[in-house]
Amino acid sequence: MKFSADNIKEFGNTEDIVCPRCGKHVYMNLLKASNGLGVFNVSLINYNVDLFAICPECKSMFAVNKDIAARAGKEKSNNYSMVNEKNITFLKELK
Ligand SMILES: [Zn+2]
Repeated sequence: MKFSADNIKEFGNTEDIVCPRCGKHVYMNLLKASNGLGVFNVSLINYNVDLFAICPECKSMFAVNKDIAARAGKEKSNNYSMVNEKNITFLKELK
């Protein structure tokens, strides 16, 4: 999956986690919204997060727990093992 919008940065991938929606083991795409507003018509104001995980299998979009997102942004890159199915919240399906 490729994201070309200016306000969205591909931030990496999670480790092998279980998607809460489709139940498959996946490496979710992590996306960071850089405009402060939102992505895919999901308002950041409503959720107060700017890091999202997207399941490549079912295209479900999840908000990454705010505390986890903040830590992942500060610590050295590729340290996303802290993002897992327990700290993401389903937002919508991208279809
Ligand atoms: Zn899924």
